[in-house]
Amino acid sequence: METSAGTNSERAGNRYDVVVIGGAAAGLSGALALARARRSVLVVDAGQPRNAPAAHIHNYLGREGAAPAELYGSGADEVRSYGGTVQSGRVSTVAREADGSFRVHLADGGQVLARRVLAATGVRDILPDLPGIQERWGRSVLHCPYCHGWEIRDKAVGILATDLGMAMHQALLWRQWSADVVLFLHTAGTPDAAQAEQLAARGIRTVTGEVTGLEGDGAGVRLASGALVNRDALVVFAPLEARAGYLAELGVLPVDQYMGEVVFGTAIPAGPTGATAVPGLYAAGNLTAPTTQVMAAAAAGLMAGAAINGDLIAEETALGVTALAGAAQNS
Ligand SMILES: Cc1cc2nc3c(=O)[nH]c(=O)nc-3n(C[C@H](O)[C@H](O)[C@H](O)COP(=O)(O)OP(=O)(O)OC[C@H]3O[C@@H](n4cnc5c(N)ncnc54)[C@H](O)[C@@H]3O)c2cc1C
Repeated sequence: METSAGTNSERAGNRYDVVVIGGAAAGLSGALALARARRSVLVVDAGQPRNAPAAHIHNYLGREGAAPAELYGSGADEVRSYGGTVQSGRVSTVAREADGSFRVHLADGGQVLARRVLAATGVRDILPDLPGIQERWGRSVLHCPYCHGWEIRDKAVGILATDLGMAMHQALLWRQWSADVVLFLHTAGTPDAAQAEQLAARGIRTVTGEVTGLEGDGAGVRLASGALVNRDALVVFAPLEARAGYLAELGVLPVDQYMGEVVFGTAIPAGPTGATAVPGLYAAGNLTAPTTQVMAAAAAGLMAGAAINGDLIAEETALGVTALAGAAQNS
């Protein structure tokens, strides 16, 4: 694939330099770097970024408070403005071809070929299975104070304990934003003496009894006893599951991620530039670092895009050297 002056490298039929799977912060940032590096790049995106339930993105410098669809929509436009292609769709499988390239299968039956693949499909939040949680997710059922803490400052906050260690961490953390924090012990057991002391020191109250669901405008917490404890927001522990099923044919499987001894999710292992154990397959964003924020996901995508371009340059240089040597031998 030659790069002619003024254009990106030619897309030969359905063959691209890079197919990016997932078109939110990580994928679009990688695609932007690649399109600006004059690579032919296709982004395939299923249109369900992790933060879609939230009205606004916070802690994204320069675009503080933007709506997720607005940020990713302008990102897609930026990729297109440099010649990249962004299309809706879902990748079902990625397979290796005999020549080392990748065949990317789409759920609609389509296929494309890629010299390199950037996987940026993020994670799925596995919410506690209680009535009222799902429909409040991202509004009054929360997980991350850096995403929502400021907006619920000084309000009535509940912490739902499904794992006591994680709930202690969350309670002490969210106490930074509100003095009114209640820890619902639910099914997680009873704090030990040291934990009880920490809670008391920070003025965090505990409520015993199983939670049966949420009610009302904010997050009214209904207990098995029938009691209702009104809260503006309920913080939950939602394990993070890598959206990586389409990589299984390449032998790439998610591995458990730990906080202390607690498994908080799964991720695809990748190095600092996004390189995975499969040559030519890169990964970025929540797929490899499930707890990172939008800005960090975007930075990882950029890093991977630059690394892929470097990888392609090395391959093209090696091919050129071989061709020169062959030409010299034949002359
Ligand atoms: C409720 C909530 C609120 C949040 N608020 C904030 C906030 O205010 N600030 C902040 O910095 N962070 C926030 N986050 C974290 C933020 O969502 C992540 O940091 C960010 O989404 C990671 O970006 P990503 O590109 O790695 O993955 P994602 O944003 O999850 O994007 C992955 C993309 O890949 C697509 N995809 C998945 N599978 C496939 C497939 N097989 N084929 C094609 N496409 C596929 C998805 O549809 C999606 O569009 C929040 C998270 C949640 C849950």
